[in-house]
Amino acid sequence: MTTSTVKTNLLGLTQLEMEKFFDSIGEKRFRAGQVMKWIHHLGVDDFDAMTNVSKALRDKLKAIAEVRGPEVVSEDISTDGTRKWVVRVASGSCVETVYIPQGKRGTLCVSSQAGCALDCSFCSTGKQGFNSNLTAAEVIGQVWIANKSFGSIPATADRAITNVVMMGMGEPLLNFDNVVAAMHLMMDDLGYGISKRRVTLSTSGVVPMIDELSKHIDVSLALSLHAPNDALRNQLVPINKKYPLKMLLESCQRYMSSLGEKRVLTIEYTLLKDINDKTEHAVEMIELLKNIPCKINLIPFNPFPHSGYERPSNNAIRRFQDQLHHAGFNVTVRTTRGEDIDAACGQLVGQVLDRTRRSERYIAVRELSAENDIAQNAANNN
Ligand code: SF4
Repeated sequence: MTTSTVKTNLLGLTQLEMEKFFDSIGEKRFRAGQVMKWIHHLGVDDFDAMTNVSKALRDKLKAIAEVRGPEVVSEDISTDGTRKWVVRVASGSCVETVYIPQGKRGTLCVSSQAGCALDCSFCSTGKQGFNSNLTAAEVIGQVWIANKSFGSIPATADRAITNVVMMGMGEPLLNFDNVVAAMHLMMDDLGYGISKRRVTLSTSGVVPMIDELSKHIDVSLALSLHAPNDALRNQLVPINKKYPLKMLLESCQRYMSSLGEKRVLTIEYTLLKDINDKTEHAVEMIELLKNIPCKINLIPFNPFPHSGYERPSNNAIRRFQDQLHHAGFNVTVRTTRGEDIDAACGQLVGQVLDRTRRSERYIAVRELSAENDIAQNAANNN
């Protein structure tokens, strides 16, 4: 009879968890820092390559642990520098990670779930339903893969990834523990050393978890608003029926206050033709947000088959932006990047071909709400 041992994946362990792991196997805690540097700074997944670790410990680690990120199905690079990875997670689903360079900034948009249960009416991810939560290793693994692809070594090199937005596929607050652990690793100097201002979590409004978030971490927050009143938001973002706007905005304000410094909430608003792009909607939005320090990010809808929605005209987008701007808001309109590799800042749909099985079509869907503009907001917050 054979017995199989489930190996501990060290990739997703925070510093504290890594120290506990080494404690649990009778090793000194400082080994955590040594191994984390190999994993996150140098992208090493082979214990034998960790040359400042004794041979005996390396052999021990090989028997009980591993460093395993998601499987890279494809990596594409756009002529404008945008990169897109399709990765397969343990559940068998594929999710996307997209990198958008902009000046000195490089923003990585990371997925938290395969599929999504929240069923926002304009979102193809929602139409697919929920498939699985990504593990902490699969969330941070997207940063690990991207960082390795750039050859970035945080201690010595210019960082390619300066900002991370949890805005890919899924609702990050519904995969709370794994996302929080991964965000700690993004910010940890033994991980990727990214400023807390430059790590942004985007939520559709899971109110209790917004309050919970403030007890665990102090990253930047973005709210997917998409409608200026409850009646319309109930249709577009059904979780609004459970956590209506007043409750939601109060929780966002509590979170922002908990940060204890001058940082502003990012509001994401997908513009849907004749649905939420009218003058009266802008008027309602001005009233709704008048007392909330925020930046507004308008996202012209990118149509996908059977969505039932259309993108507003450029004139309508400009009119809506001007109205908010004249009311004193800082408003940006998302720009499109990476179209030639199907990584344009489409709000939600990325249909990707699996490079290892070209005849088979994988649908990996994401909510890429506004990486460029969020990056800009994060930089402006600094
Ligand atoms: S918009 Fe976001 S929260 Fe809503 S269904 Fe899509 S992925 Fe889920």
